[in-house]
Amino acid sequence: MALPEPRVAATIRLDEVSGQRWDLVVIGAGPAGSMAAREASLAGARVLLVDRASFPRPKVCGCCINGAAIGVLTDVGLGDLLRHNCAQQLHAVRLASAGRIANIRLSEGVSLSRERFDTALIQAAIDAGAEFLDQTQALISNVNADARAVILKRDMTEQSAAAKSIVVAGGLGCRVFAEPSSDERHASPASRVGAGTVLDVAPAEYCGGTIYMACHKHGYVGLVRLEDDRLDIAAALDSDAIKQHGGIAKLAAQILTHAGLSIPEAMDDANWHGTAKLTQHREHVAAERCFFIGDAAGYVEPFTGEGMAWALASGRAVAPIVVDLLQDDGEADAMQAWTDQHRRLIARRARLCRYVSRMLRYPAVVSVAVRLLAHAPWLARPVVRSLNASFQAGRANIVVESEKN
Ligand SMILES: Cc1cc2nc3c(=O)[nH]c(=O)nc-3n(C[C@H](O)[C@H](O)[C@H](O)COP(=O)(O)OP(=O)(O)OC[C@H]3O[C@@H](n4cnc5c(N)ncnc54)[C@H](O)[C@@H]3O)c2cc1C
Repeated sequence: MALPEPRVAATIRLDEVSGQRWDLVVIGAGPAGSMAAREASLAGARVLLVDRASFPRPKVCGCCINGAAIGVLTDVGLGDLLRHNCAQQLHAVRLASAGRIANIRLSEGVSLSRERFDTALIQAAIDAGAEFLDQTQALISNVNADARAVILKRDMTEQSAAAKSIVVAGGLGCRVFAEPSSDERHASPASRVGAGTVLDVAPAEYCGGTIYMACHKHGYVGLVRLEDDRLDIAAALDSDAIKQHGGIAKLAAQILTHAGLSIPEAMDDANWHGTAKLTQHREHVAAERCFFIGDAAGYVEPFTGEGMAWALASGRAVAPIVVDLLQDDGEADAMQAWTDQHRRLIARRARLCRYVSRMLRYPAVVSVAVRLLAHAPWLARPVVRSLNASFQAGRANIVVESEKN
């Protein structure tokens, strides 16, 4: 399928930003940052959205946008964005472990490349009035009574700006403080790392509309067709096992073979990207005029494919809080409001995600779970419904079937 290249250009130059005072600087133009920038701009704030990358950029991700994420997009009036970008409807998850397969039918969810999704969201933020500056690293420095300073760096050039609030949406393992010791993020020592690639050519057995998920004691690998028929591969892997198996591609191949799925030929020579440790948390999601959202606020392994839903929901929810802070000086109230709101939005979902991730560490438990699904498919319904549910109300309608390989 020939689709136009996704592209988005900066709307402002680095020298134009210098010395200016913004209502809000958003660091990171992934789904969380673009959503926050758009919503705050629509509410009348003067917003600068900054990213160190130029877009489209590679991002390790399973590229599956679940019902909860679609719910947020629809609620804010971006329901058409997925259709306009030819997102591929998802109908099923094929869960494979040690030669057994369970098919979980989905009634909602789409796949869309991160090149296309992230670019479209940045464009939506620009359309709402946000200024966008790419290829620029933003580092938070001094705090004053009513503003925070940000250093903006590109190549050898460095400028500074000030903002009444900063929304930190820099993703997993981002560096956003000029003084690294100011960052109080913790990675779980036993955490897996992420890895991903996108293949132009892949075996025909990987059909559009299905998520293939291979589980193994050393991690799991997810595969899905994108809007242009390329195959996205994303994995969470034990770092020691990557070394023992001679690299990411070799370990991913081992996991697919063990699960009973075929290995795409191009996988070995593909350009793989890696991530920091996947399971991370932050003591405080708000401090001194900085509000953390999306992966930057904390993340759990991606098996349940919810990260973009959390990112979009937190981007939408933080905007009214930073806009209210423009009107009065209740900084402490705003910090507390975001802490409470973030807990309400994400904590229960993150807990479920943590339980599932822990269970996946035990191959015997996974094997029993797949067998159970074969005999009692209804057991999976509440879990899947909860993962897919909208942030406001339950939306999913899921039917589970299973088969023996
Ligand atoms: C293996 C794997 C599979 C996954 N599969 C799925 C899935 O199928 N479905 C799903 O919903 N989620 C999935 N996720 C999770 C999803 O990718 C993330 O949760 C989501 O991208 C978080 O969005 P974000 O906006 O918080 O951060 P990101 O998308 O990571 O964006 C952060 C941005 O900040 C920029 N940045 C960082 N630091 C700075 C700085 N100092 N200055 C300027 N810019 C900066 C980066 O360049 C980046 O563009 C998966 C994750 C992994 C690792």
